[in-house]
Amino acid sequence: MNGEGVINGNDNEVETIRHYHPGICHTCATRPSPTTSLKRCAQCQLVLYCSKQCQKKDWLIHKPLCQVQASLEGKNGVTSAEKKVNSNMNRFEARTLRRMQVRCKLGRPLKGYENEIFLFPRVCEICCEGDPSKMIECFKCRSVFYCSDEHYSEDDERHKKWCDAFNLCIGCDVLEYRLGVDSIPFPICIDDKYKALPGTIKEHLTSMLDMVSIPVGYLLEKDLFLILMSERLTYPLSVLYALQQIKIGPSQRDISKVTELTIHVVGAESTIEMLGIIRWEYLAHILPALQKLHVVFVGPQVFSVSDLDDPVPDNHCLDDSGMTLCEDCQVKGRAIVYEMCQMLYHEYVAASYSTRPDAIVAFNCGFHEFHGDKIDTWPESLKLMIQDSETPLIFTSYTEKEAMKDLHVLQEMGEVDVIIPRHMNPYQSLRPHRDPAKEDGADLFYVNRFITCVRATK
Ligand SMILES: [Zn+2]
Ligand SMILES: [Zn+2]
Ligand SMILES: [Zn+2]
Ligand SMILES: [Zn+2]
Ligand SMILES: [Zn+2]
Repeated sequence: MNGEGVINGNDNEVETIRHYHPGICHTCATRPSPTTSLKRCAQCQLVLYCSKQCQKKDWLIHKPLCQVQASLEGKNGVTSAEKKVNSNMNRFEARTLRRMQVRCKLGRPLKGYENEIFLFPRVCEICCEGDPSKMIECFKCRSVFYCSDEHYSEDDERHKKWCDAFNLCIGCDVLEYRLGVDSIPFPICIDDKYKALPGTIKEHLTSMLDMVSIPVGYLLEKDLFLILMSERLTYPLSVLYALQQIKIGPSQRDISKVTELTIHVVGAESTIEMLGIIRWEYLAHILPALQKLHVVFVGPQVFSVSDLDDPVPDNHCLDDSGMTLCEDCQVKGRAIVYEMCQMLYHEYVAASYSTRPDAIVAFNCGFHEFHGDKIDTWPESLKLMIQDSETPLIFTSYTEKEAMKDLHVLQEMGEVDVIIPRHMNPYQSLRPHRDPAKEDGADLFYVNRFITCVRATK
């Protein structure tokens, strides 16, 4: 990690990977030993460092936020603001509001890790007290804090369920920060016979470990490497996991025999994520019969670059250059086409270039999230996503409750048959992420955790 906090000399990348964790040094991401403690920035009290050198290194980057925070809330601002948060019913909303105030005053969107500074403050889990002299922390994960022994024991049983996941979360975040987001290679193993996926993503990836050259930085951290790999491959693998269980298209083919496959990924977040990080080509490697893979990403934010809204030249573009294809796919004359459409799905369906999909997928879909709300953009699109009795709609949700609600929304839109009932997705990501809203009482979440598949009733 260099002084500017910039990795690979690219400013955009660092935003997607730098994280804030209240229990580790904000600059070098070192976990303090049990006998040492971190020092807070005296002016804003928001960030902590292991040493003067680390604080100095970060100062130029931290300064604007630090000054804004100090001017908004003054000394001990965090403690008093968090006390207000505690008296507020919804901590997440109150913290989001503070974040917005800082954003306004700063005059620019906050970066990912700056948001996390406000969302995961170093305060008591139970009462939000932030007085540094009182803080006790869980020394195993360094992710939760308490003002007193009473509050520590009050939360003990609950926290034990999440402690390991917090540890993995820090482990993944720090490693990815040090080595870069694009440091995870994907296994180049080309199957010549179709092998059905094993029971879990962990089994599948473990069997692949020999076919991937693990970068030096990950050699001592193979578990974390596997977890980071699962985060990238959960997308294509969840699709395959579902398609393995159903027949494809009008001629009802088995996925292992399909030579051309078109997938619509609806509600796709950003191209960086969908193309830069997730490796769709992997599907071709484990589907030997596949000659052409066409993945269409449709969503209002497909071209957005994290928080920076760069003007987009065109809302539709197609990449069939095959530039990134591996040698083997090139030799086999495979075509892999990526199409990016920055628009809502019903707008895409109306466009002249729209194609008919073999499957429609919505990852971590949140169909229910704004249901009944005027700003909800899903309803018009959803109707079109469940209009064809031959095209399955596969969707994933963060929690079982959400999965239930998501299905419910679809059932209100039209008549559907549930062809794969909601269940915990064995091809979900293994990487835990902290949930600032702690939805359904969960401190951390996993992408693609629940999976469901439906089709319009014939
Ligand atoms: Zn440090
Ligand atoms: Zn500061
Ligand atoms: Zn407390
Ligand atoms: Zn812990
Ligand atoms: Zn390939």
